[in-house]
Amino acid sequence: MASTRPTPGNRVVQKPEIPANEAARLAALRSYDILDTAPEKDFDDLVAIAAAICDVPTALVSLIDADRQWFKSRIGMAASETPRELAFCAHAILEPNRTMVVPDTHNDARFADSPLVVDDPNIRFYAGAPLIAPGGEALGTLCVIDRQPRELRQHQYIALQALSTQTSRLLELRRVSRALARQLQESDWYEHKLLQYQSELEASNADLTALTRTDPLTGLPNRRAFALALEQALARHEAPATLHVAVLDIDHFKTINDIHGHPEGDRVLLAVAEALRLYAAAPGGVARYGGEEFLMMFECGQAQAQLQCEYVREAVANLPVGLPLTISIGLATHRAGEDTAATFARADQALYAAKRGGRNRVVVAEGD
Ligand code: GH3
Ligand code: MG
Ligand code: MG
Repeated sequence: MASTRPTPGNRVVQKPEIPANEAARLAALRSYDILDTAPEKDFDDLVAIAAAICDVPTALVSLIDADRQWFKSRIGMAASETPRELAFCAHAILEPNRTMVVPDTHNDARFADSPLVVDDPNIRFYAGAPLIAPGGEALGTLCVIDRQPRELRQHQYIALQALSTQTSRLLELRRVSRALARQLQESDWYEHKLLQYQSELEASNADLTALTRTDPLTGLPNRRAFALALEQALARHEAPATLHVAVLDIDHFKTINDIHGHPEGDRVLLAVAEALRLYAAAPGGVARYGGEEFLMMFECGQAQAQLQCEYVREAVANLPVGLPLTISIGLATHRAGEDTAATFARADQALYAAKRGGRNRVVVAEGD
């Protein structure tokens, strides 16, 4: 049974009952995310058509919230919401499959004493067709209101129901399209994040690759990087005789370490690396082989390569490191069909000969 309560002026208003499925109904309503949103033309159009067809001054899309009815669209109604207990529509949703018609409020015990009837907006006629969610919950109504008693003619009754169905569909369409938009936004966000992770990964992979090819002490390419550069240079050359490999070794480096200490030895290695860097004709043209040994690659004539080695040897001998410093160099020219390891081995043998020959000198590999 509907409860009653006294209102100012000793009127008795019959409060609408709460539907049995109220929790599910409210959950459905909330899922539309529509309460207190701005007017939308699609709803306003349906309300305008309802008012025109039913020939009334007032038409509403009314949604029944927990404690109020809120109007998504309204014509001829100043208020944007009213308390639920005064809402005609709160009665209408109690029978979701029926359009509730009140031809004259003065003759209806539920509404005769309602402040909405007795005072402004002085409702005399009401017809409300429930708005139904796909789950069957009645969310509110599309309703028409007049200040004078009246009946709905058959075609008006049918039109009101049809427009109510359209309004329910519009609600659903709005809900789905907003959910889709949100999903699209989210997938954009994920895609953006994914790309970000990917580029971070690529950057750190690039860092790792650089690390695997760089000597940590001097920052020069290491022997791996040198071997790669050598292979690439070989692939570039049609006449392999223009490619030369030099192995450089600091003379008596152990003595420098022994006398001046390891850190001073490191400082000397850095100074030599810097001097060699100046002679790097191409990326990978100079490398640290390991210990106090370095590598150089020349892509020029043999005499030119030998001259370059002499320059390097002299440049190191003149480094202002504050102690005697010289290097020995073995130089080998790549031969057709020879693999790079073999060229390298011949350069190493030439270096050994340079050491034997008294150090601080350049020795060209036998037969070159
Ligand atoms: P040689 O003229 O015959 O080449 O004599 P050497 O003393 O230069 O040759 P040896 O191979 O006996 O000694 C090389 C030394 O280089 C031994 C090793 O401790 C030192 N060494 C290798 N790597 C480093 C490094 O990164 N820093 C320092 N300070 N010393 C290093
Ligand atoms: Mg050595
Ligand atoms: Mg040495």
